[in-house]
Amino acid sequence: MSAIFKRSRPDRGLDYVHYLGDGDSKAFSAVQNSAPYQVDKMECCGHVQKRMGKRLMDRVSSLKGSVFTDAKGKKVKGIGGAGKLTQKATKRIQGHYGGAIRNNAGNLASMKKAIWAIWKHRGDDHRDCLEWCASKQGKPVKNVLPKFVVDAIKPVFEALTKDDLLKKCLHGGSQNPNESFHHLIWERCPKTVFVGRRRLELGFFDAVLVFNGGESERLKVLKNLNINPGHHAIKFAFGVDTNRIKRSVYGGDLDHIASRRNKSASVAPDDNNYCAGGF
Ligand SMILES: [Zn+2]
Repeated sequence: MSAIFKRSRPDRGLDYVHYLGDGDSKAFSAVQNSAPYQVDKMECCGHVQKRMGKRLMDRVSSLKGSVFTDAKGKKVKGIGGAGKLTQKATKRIQGHYGGAIRNNAGNLASMKKAIWAIWKHRGDDHRDCLEWCASKQGKPVKNVLPKFVVDAIKPVFEALTKDDLLKKCLHGGSQNPNESFHHLIWERCPKTVFVGRRRLELGFFDAVLVFNGGESERLKVLKNLNINPGHHAIKFAFGVDTNRIKRSVYGGDLDHIASRRNKSASVAPDDNNYCAGGF
């Protein structure tokens, strides 16, 4: 990758202004060292969002043995578990944190305020809450946390609302489109199989074609090669595209977003090697 940044100016007369990273600082410093011009780092909002969940869980485990006093004067051990910060609540806070970043793209002050509103809401202070809060709908608020828990997680919010970090998230974007494009290339040229340059190039061109215009774009290539696609080829290509659009509309439907979120909150991560937000 550093080669791409190094040659962009002499070969193409082009400067890359932004670098969208996933928190892997080694890759960015390599780019910084090789580019003959200034490159600004941006963070992938999806990866930053995961830091919230990771740091809250870390806080729970580091305070496991600590003793707190609850509102009734009773001694309580740790901040995790039922009646305190559950895993489900951690996931929800993480999701709201990501939402606060994405919904306030381009506005640092309102982004910060929206993130602190999540913390205040858990401490039963609903002045900065928006319509998502039950108190604004005239309903009782069920997810308020005990004061000692709210106090214990404040440092996590302080760290994750720092200007330096949020400024890199102002673009509101993630690496998801990149990753989905990479997936199309890997699908054609698997990492585990050696492919020659010709196949790699063809696979790459085909991936660009399908990523930008869908399966039906391939039909145009065939036509330009003077090959007339048959009835079944046309039916197949448009069928795949229509299904993909249908799925994305269905996937963006609010009910289905909520059900996916509940599902992911109830399933414990089983991948021990990958540590989301662990950088
Ligand atoms: Zn509220």
